[in-house]
Amino acid sequence: MEKRDYKNMWVYIEHDGKKAEPVGLELCCEIRKVCDITGDKLYAVIIGDLAESEQTLVKNCGVDGIIYVSGTGYEYYNTDAYSNAFTVLSKKYNPSAIFVGATVNGRDFAPRTAVQLDTGCTSDAMQIEYDPKTGDLEFIEPAVGGKIMAVITFPKLRPQIGTHRPGTFKYAPVGAKENIEIIKEQIDFPVENIRCRHLSFAEYEFDPELEIADCDVIIGVGNGLSDEEQLPRYRELAKLLGGKIGCTRPLFDRDILPYKLQIGQSGVIIKPKLYISFGISGAVNHVAGITADTFIAVNNDPEAQIFNYCDYGIVGDMDEVCDRMIAEIKAKQ
Ligand SMILES: Cc1cc2nc3c(=O)[nH]c(=O)nc-3n(C[C@H](O)[C@H](O)[C@H](O)COP(=O)(O)OP(=O)(O)OC[C@H]3O[C@@H](n4cnc5c(N)ncnc54)[C@H](O)[C@@H]3O)c2cc1C
Repeated sequence: MEKRDYKNMWVYIEHDGKKAEPVGLELCCEIRKVCDITGDKLYAVIIGDLAESEQTLVKNCGVDGIIYVSGTGYEYYNTDAYSNAFTVLSKKYNPSAIFVGATVNGRDFAPRTAVQLDTGCTSDAMQIEYDPKTGDLEFIEPAVGGKIMAVITFPKLRPQIGTHRPGTFKYAPVGAKENIEIIKEQIDFPVENIRCRHLSFAEYEFDPELEIADCDVIIGVGNGLSDEEQLPRYRELAKLLGGKIGCTRPLFDRDILPYKLQIGQSGVIIKPKLYISFGISGAVNHVAGITADTFIAVNNDPEAQIFNYCDYGIVGDMDEVCDRMIAEIKAKQ
């Protein structure tokens, strides 16, 4: 088959039966815009039963159709049945592209599906463009330690498969179409062929301090932090401003803060009203994860890259500046 014979784009809607993962809806909204340019149709793929109200959210993202998959093997997520479902569906319908949220499960089955279909899978692209000359999508993301923006394409293979981190794209539903095509597929995967066994289910222990994706004020702490003892002042500043702290990768590598607080390309994507960075150099891998209404950067190096991204830059010692901010806020209380 020629690549022009592959048509339409799919977004996988991951869910637990009650709720759809937001990343699937975010992807639907973004790919709707791409399909409007390419002329492809946008299909959501839902495996297993999903609550009606959540299906309405999917429809509101402007999908042209929904492919519902039922059958054996989907009671709990597993690589074998889910990658098989996408492989079987793709061989039947030949989509041009498949987009999957970069959740633990999505990152697991999407590359496997790609292997089964003899195509490729890109991960963590932060922008998707269309090249009308080649008919290829361009998956754009920071690479080589953030020194370049890499443009990844599938010049020969189809479908073009990408996994994308939650929060990369905006959830901006355009409203439901009048006639949404409904496709129902029964794909049974023999349960005895599933190579992993579901032993138990442990509820995720929710710690609100570690949930920063939707936080309005974030204090970002970077490798300029001399040691862990200096951290409480940044927590105090965050608290005074009604926010939370986040960090760069080196702080996670140094075991000072948990991975869930790492902001950036391979961490959490944030969209706060206010972001204040302390002792952060401004690597693309970090700043690619930030869209802030107001961005203030503090660094003792006037040449630091971070000053190219911020609205206000303060050259100075991070601990001293933080203490002065705390004192100013307290004085005004
Ligand atoms: C594939 C890939 C993915 C990555 N993903 C991420 C990601 O998701 N998130 C992420 O953060 N990184 C990520 N990285 C790492 C990234 O490239 C940078 O190495 C990292 O962001 C640097 O963190 P930093 O700015 O805190 O540290 P550094 O680059 O070490 O910068 C420290 C800064 O602190 C300043 N400083 C030092 N002392 C003081 C002081 N007393 N007062 C004020 N300023 C001071 C210095 O001038 C310097 O600018 C990734 C890298 C790769 C290769």
